[in-house]
Amino acid sequence: MTVCKVPAVGVLVASTLDEAMAALGEHPDALVLAGGTDLMVEINEAHRSLAGDETVVAVNRVSELRAWSVDTTAGAVRLGAGVTYTELARPPLADLLPALGQAARTVGSPQIRNAATLGGNLATCSPAGDGLPVLSALDAMVELLGPDGVRTMPVGEFMIGVKRTARRPGELLTAVSVPLLDGWQGYAKVGVRNAMEIAIAGACLAVDRPGRSVRIALGSVAPTIVRAPDAEAFAASAVGWDTGTVGDDAVARFASLVAAATRPIDDHRASAAYRRRAVEVLAGRLLRRAFPRTGAAP
Ligand SMILES: Cc1cc2nc3c(=O)[nH]c(=O)nc-3n(C[C@H](O)[C@H](O)[C@H](O)COP(=O)(O)OP(=O)(O)OC[C@H]3O[C@@H](n4cnc5c(N)ncnc54)[C@H](O)[C@@H]3O)c2cc1C
Repeated sequence: MTVCKVPAVGVLVASTLDEAMAALGEHPDALVLAGGTDLMVEINEAHRSLAGDETVVAVNRVSELRAWSVDTTAGAVRLGAGVTYTELARPPLADLLPALGQAARTVGSPQIRNAATLGGNLATCSPAGDGLPVLSALDAMVELLGPDGVRTMPVGEFMIGVKRTARRPGELLTAVSVPLLDGWQGYAKVGVRNAMEIAIAGACLAVDRPGRSVRIALGSVAPTIVRAPDAEAFAASAVGWDTGTVGDDAVARFASLVAAATRPIDDHRASAAYRRRAVEVLAGRLLRRAFPRTGAAP
């Protein structure tokens, strides 16, 4: 029998953003607790040891963090950090941000999706976090509130390594601003089963039709989420913007450029070679879905 000793920790349950910030002002190194689906696993599995003098600031009752709104001027959806995957998986949010809706539907189980938040996914910053390739492909901006006010930064600058972010002590991740794109977007992932599965490889492809650009962001194939700039530049010139077509050779070339942008590792879940090949296949399929009609290469 395993005996799990959990030392007593002080838990401050915030009801408002002001209360959460006051608690973090007093305890800048406090553990922020949202849905708890990552943090409690870390504590229960002793990946994070508690000495007993920690403070936990629980933010799941902070209504400001649970809110979302459409900013028509900026052409973006501002998602509070406490928006859950259940909310992201359903209309109206899934209609506004379809790739994020698709990613949300692949996360865990209904119980996990009810508790798990987008902010928690971002703050954990696992390379396998399903929301993260979507935020990267859509060029989302992360909003942090701290003792010195609000900081915003591109999600690519927020994610600095495996489970490492640019968040400073005392800061709370308050929101993510996700641009609304005019164009097809989708998320796909590979795992060993269809549910309750952490991605072995994941990819989000987003088309900006007016800007004539194709973006692709990849999960689980590098220390953090990566874009594939060479593949993006190639796709922008290879697809037929007016016809909505792309040739088979162009799809294959795009997919191989995506694979070349990866830096996967071998681990207990998959080999590096499998991950690279998996993401290559996903990238080709996503481009084909975005430009579904085959024909002569434009
Ligand atoms: C059974 C199971 C299945 C899962 N399946 C998937 C899956 O398929 N795909 C996937 O991507 N993830 C999966 N996860 C992981 C997890 O559900 C997600 O990463 C989730 O989004 C974490 O959100 P949370 O609100 O539960 O975060 P928490 O566990 O509360 O917090 C996670 C981290 O973020 C920090 N944090 C949270 N909110 C804030 C904030 N506002 N400001 C600053 N820091 C903050 C916490 O301090 C902690 O370090 C799974 C987890 C479990 C237990």
